[in-house]
Amino acid sequence: MAALTEVQAKSAPIISRIENEAVRIGALKLVERCYNRGVEIRITQGLRTIEEQNSLYAQGRTIFTGPIVTNARGGQSYHNFSLAIDFVLIRGGYDMKYDGDCDGIADWVEVVTEAKALGFAWGGDWKSFKDNPHFEMTFGLSLADLRAGKRPTSTQILKAVSKMNALEEKEAQGMSVELEKKFYEFKKATEAQLKAQEEDIKALKKRAAMPEWADDLLSEMKLRKLITTSNDKGYEFSTMAQMLKNSGLLSEAFLKHAADINAKGSKGI
Ligand SMILES: [Zn+2]
Repeated sequence: MAALTEVQAKSAPIISRIENEAVRIGALKLVERCYNRGVEIRITQGLRTIEEQNSLYAQGRTIFTGPIVTNARGGQSYHNFSLAIDFVLIRGGYDMKYDGDCDGIADWVEVVTEAKALGFAWGGDWKSFKDNPHFEMTFGLSLADLRAGKRPTSTQILKAVSKMNALEEKEAQGMSVELEKKFYEFKKATEAQLKAQEEDIKALKKRAAMPEWADDLLSEMKLRKLITTSNDKGYEFSTMAQMLKNSGLLSEAFLKHAADINAKGSKGI
């Protein structure tokens, strides 16, 4: 992907000419938000003055250079009042099915989703003539209202901008909630791990400690010189001693027998 600033630069000349603040901010945010989800767009149209619209209307009609590109004369398009923008996918062009970021959602649909979230109406929703690359903010004003000189009020514009900012604040909040959740999950997992390690250590300590029941047994074995090492501590050691005793190998008879064999010379038992 190109850098965001490069993508922004492609739309800057058009966006900077948009007089309506909400539409201008909306266009800037749209480029950035689409970029953040892997879709690069260029704003191809913003403000089109009535003169520009008239000469565009003449194209293919009174001026026979190129095809007819619009059905709107000057004053018949929201572009003429700085209330509309058009876009194109930098990769994918006007292919509405193109999925350049391979997320299973057509890039075009992603752009439409973002634009609507920002408060734009989409030309693709129109019943009679669908204008798929077109978004507008009408502020409840018809083209007739606008031709008559009505304009969105500063309160309306401020409200539209606040709505866009609130959307991003809400998203930022959602993100911090998500982060907090992840942190608690991590903390919980770490605590569980620490507790398991503590249990292991406890078990190990228990195995290393001398059990009380082994005291007499070990004293007896030392007395008989069956234990000659000073390394005679621990649960394992005590268990071995107990096994030895249980097997009968510590009986008087056996020990005597063993002593006799040793006295004759160690020829084996
Ligand atoms: Zn348009």
